[in-house]
Amino acid sequence: MSRKRILITGAAGFLGSHLCDRFIAEDFEVLAMDNLITGDLKNIEHLFKLSQFSFYEHDVSDFVHVSGKLDYILHFASPASPIDYLKIPIQTLKVGSLGTHHLLGLAKDKNARILVASTSEVYGDPHVHPQTEEYWGNVNPVGPRGVYDEAKRFQEAITMAYHTYHNVETRIIRIFNTYGPRMRLNDGRVLPAFIGQALRGEDLTIFGDGSQTRSFCYVDDLVEGIFRLLHSDYSSPVNIGNPDEITIKDFAEEIIKLTRTNQKVIYKPLPKDDPTQRQPDITLARKLLGWEPKVSRSKGLKITYEYFKSLPQENWYKKEHNDFERYIKK
Ligand code: UDP
Repeated sequence: MSRKRILITGAAGFLGSHLCDRFIAEDFEVLAMDNLITGDLKNIEHLFKLSQFSFYEHDVSDFVHVSGKLDYILHFASPASPIDYLKIPIQTLKVGSLGTHHLLGLAKDKNARILVASTSEVYGDPHVHPQTEEYWGNVNPVGPRGVYDEAKRFQEAITMAYHTYHNVETRIIRIFNTYGPRMRLNDGRVLPAFIGQALRGEDLTIFGDGSQTRSFCYVDDLVEGIFRLLHSDYSSPVNIGNPDEITIKDFAEEIIKLTRTNQKVIYKPLPKDDPTQRQPDITLARKLLGWEPKVSRSKGLKITYEYFKSLPQENWYKKEHNDFERYIKK
C-alpha cells in the first residue's frame, strides 16, 4: 500500500517542524511548505535526507499547487507571536484568510482532509473562564492583535463554509499557549523572552503587574492532540491546551528558579488588549479524543531550557526587542 501523503504548511516553524517529525515517524510522505518569513530551515534540516520528505519554499497566500494525490493538509502557516503581528500585520492577515482559502480549495480539488490551526486568540480578552468552545469571544478587530485574531476567526468561518457547502472534510483546532524546543528565542513571547533574559544575565521583563494568566502546553502533548483530532470525525472547533494556569509573575519566578539565576523582575507597560486571563476548558477534547496533557510544566520547562542553553551563544544575543512600543505605529 502506498504511503499517505500529507501537506504541512508552516513546516519550518515551531509547531510545523514537530508535526513533520511526527508524521514522518508515522510513515507518511510529508510535503513541507514554508515561505521562511518566521520559520527556520534548521528546524527541519534533519529530515532533508529522507526520501519520504520534501520541502517547498512557497507563500501560501499565493495560489498553491501540489502535484499528485494528497490525503491530508495541515495548515499551520502563520506568524504567531504578538510582536510578529506588529511587525508583519498584512502578511498575518493574508495567510489566515487568503492562505486558508487556497488550502481549502486544494483540499476540495484533491479530496483531502484538512485541519486548520486556529487559536485561543479567537476568544480575545475572554469574559468566560475557562474558555469553552461555545464561547464566541471578546475581540477588538482594530487593535494590535486584530490582524491575527480576526484572520483566525475568518479562517474558522471559511473552513466551516467549505465543510457545509462543499462537503470538504475539515477539522479546526484552537491552540492555547504552547512551548518547547525550536521556539524562536527572539520571537517576543513570554517564555523565550524570559529564558533569553536569564541566559544573558538580564532582568526579566514583566508586562503590566504580572497578574494576567496563561496556561502553557508542552509541544508533544499538543502534537498528540492534533494527531487524534485529524483522525476523528468531528468538524467543529476543539480546544487543545494544558489547563494548568499560572500568573505571569509566578511564571517569571519559576524561570528564575529553573535557570538558577539571581535576576530581578522589572515591570513594563502592559501591551494594548493583552488578555487578562486564559485557560482552556478541555472537556470536549477529553471526551472526543480521549486526550489530555501528560507533560508537567516543570518537566517541559526543563527540556525547553536545556534546548535554548544548547544553542550557540551568539543566538542568545540575536536579540530583537520585546518592546512593543518600538513597533506600534503612533
Ligand atoms: N509578557 C511579559 N513579558 C515579556 C513577554 C510577554 O510579561 O517579555 C506577557 C504578555 O504581556 C502576556 C503574557 O506574557 O500577558 C504572554 O505573552 P505572549 O507574548 O507569550 O503570548 P500571548 O499569550 O499574549 O499571545
